[in-house]
Amino acid sequence: MLELIQIPCLTDNYAWLVVDGAQALVVDPAEAAPVLDRLAPTGARLAAVLVTHHHDDHVGGIDELVAATGCAVVGNARDGGRIPRLSRRVDPGQTTVVAGLPLEVLDVSGHTLGHVAYACARRFGVVRRHGHGGSETEVARLAGRPALFVGDALFGAGCGRLFEGTKEMLAAALATLAARNPSSLVCCAHEYTAANLRFAQAALPDHAAIRARALGLDEEMGAAKSSVPSTLEEELATNPFLLALHDDEPAAAVGELRARKDVFAV
Ligand SMILES: [Zn+2]
Repeated sequence: MLELIQIPCLTDNYAWLVVDGAQALVVDPAEAAPVLDRLAPTGARLAAVLVTHHHDDHVGGIDELVAATGCAVVGNARDGGRIPRLSRRVDPGQTTVVAGLPLEVLDVSGHTLGHVAYACARRFGVVRRHGHGGSETEVARLAGRPALFVGDALFGAGCGRLFEGTKEMLAAALATLAARNPSSLVCCAHEYTAANLRFAQAALPDHAAIRARALGLDEEMGAAKSSVPSTLEEELATNPFLLALHDDEPAAAVGELRARKDVFAV
């Protein structure tokens, strides 16, 4: 049975441990120690690190994980010069098999050039949330779904800043993710949902679904103290950046919203 385990790293980062029987992979490990600690009781062998983009808080654990386990490092070929120890170069548009799991590689450039997401069509039998300061909690409602590992391309009720790309690229990346199976788990790399919902309510004060999500957030996070993963259907209904894709000029609408969020005081 496929298992998804959230691992809190640094102050608000998340790594994702995927365990499929005897094999495991981890997505965006900011640190090695919490990954190795959580891997040990599974008894699985770490086959690979999956990297969504080159930022330090996504690759910081790679050196130590490779030294400890000999795992492969999978990432976008075009970021070969800035992802440490990259050993399996993939290209957007291809499907790659990692630890026995077929993963579709999606171009979601914008936050960085070369940012990719990985779509896993296999459904997760068990999903465990574990936020910062919370306790690991199995969330039955989230089981039985495929997953999107999106890095910093999409967050709960928000999206990553534009560091290298254009608003056109950001709108295209969001549209790529919005077109996936709506039941997908959205496995992003940060716990930013509460702050993003404050901005979402300021941007769209009359939006009932956004207000309901904000009101229910504490209950949603529960003992795990985590709002992640969310589901794509939830993001499609409440994420202002995905809602902006319905505008007549989506790139302009997404770009304007992103610029306002950059200076929004939470
Ligand atoms: Zn980043």
